[in-house]
Amino acid sequence: MPRTLPNGKQNNITIRRLKDKLGVRAVASGELILNKAVGYLIGIEENGFKYMAEALNVSRLGTGMSGIAIARRAFLEAAIYTKHREAFGSKINQYPMVRETLVNMMAEIEAGWATTAQTLKLFDEVHTYNQKNEENYPLLRILLSLLKYRGSELGVSAAKDALELHGGNGYIEEYVTPRLIRDAIVNPVWEGTANIQALEILKTLSKVSGRKFIQELRATLNAIDHRELMALRKFFEQEVARLETLIVHVLQQDEYTQTALAKKLADIMYDVFSGVHLLEEAQYDVNQDNNARRVLAVEQWISLKFDRSEDRGILANCAISEEIFNALVCFEKKEL
Ligand SMILES: Cc1cc2nc3c(=O)[nH]c(=O)nc-3n(C[C@H](O)[C@H](O)[C@H](O)COP(=O)(O)OP(=O)(O)OC[C@H]3O[C@@H](n4cnc5c(N)ncnc54)[C@H](O)[C@@H]3O)c2cc1C
Repeated sequence: MPRTLPNGKQNNITIRRLKDKLGVRAVASGELILNKAVGYLIGIEENGFKYMAEALNVSRLGTGMSGIAIARRAFLEAAIYTKHREAFGSKINQYPMVRETLVNMMAEIEAGWATTAQTLKLFDEVHTYNQKNEENYPLLRILLSLLKYRGSELGVSAAKDALELHGGNGYIEEYVTPRLIRDAIVNPVWEGTANIQALEILKTLSKVSGRKFIQELRATLNAIDHRELMALRKFFEQEVARLETLIVHVLQQDEYTQTALAKKLADIMYDVFSGVHLLEEAQYDVNQDNNARRVLAVEQWISLKFDRSEDRGILANCAISEEIFNALVCFEKKEL
């Protein structure tokens, strides 16, 4: 829509208001009134919805990645701050609970990146190289919704964790943490909320029964052949089988129950998918230069998302080891 018409007059577009937003203030958002305004058709008239769906694919990819990127920045700020801040006679990154928060942030980031990389690869296949087919497109739709949902959530939780690790300073505008949290919190909302992403996944699953999703996971696990990673492969094979049963179960329910279960199912799909692909990346690192840093990330991911012990690790005295802290938070190489 041109601002000025060919006859030199203003097009009939008025700005009702610029929105006073909680965050993303660097991007102006406004409400426009179009009153018989002139617009030019782009593309084919009947294809509007198709174009919109494709645009949503791009924006959901960007939104999910934005969440992961905010989490990464939040982690960096928190890792540096806690290394220097002294309280109760010690640098605060020596305290186990601080270490646990940092290690868990990084496990989430590594897992989130594993899903992001797979989504980008498939996105390129479908959109950049025009190799869209009945197999890869439903998988891409599922991955985009998973990434949009959980990447966005991660941005918010990591920004909040980083703020808390800064203590009172984290709440003050001289630090970046308030801005991170304000900017992160729009991601779960725009481009479709978490519930809407879960419904999208359900819709795609009911069309293709989740077969491709499960097949992809099994193929990835079949390529894990490093002797030291066999126990992790076996663990995820069991989780994939469990997930397959859950998908079948959900799809057999009536519509009300299906939608009630949609987000829980999406969460498990993301946890399994991210874990399997993090393991794939861990094997790559080990084969490259015997660096097992990401193997530790997989183990931490498992204890974060799949711990079913009733005492939440208390009786096993679960505490963050020096080894895992140095590898995940300080990026030290860990030999296998
Ligand atoms: C800063 C900003 C910029 C934006 N820019 C654009 C833009 O450029 N273009 C554009 O088109 N839109 C834009 N939006 C709109 C944005 O995409 C929507 O606000 C968002 O998708 C949520 O929709 P809604 O506001 O209608 O919420 P609602 O649909 O009213 O949702 C409210 C709550 O109900 C839940 N809910 C709704 N339906 C269901 C259901 N069926 N099952 C379960 N739960 C449900 C939602 O999950 C949510 O928690 C923007 C929004 C913001 C905040």
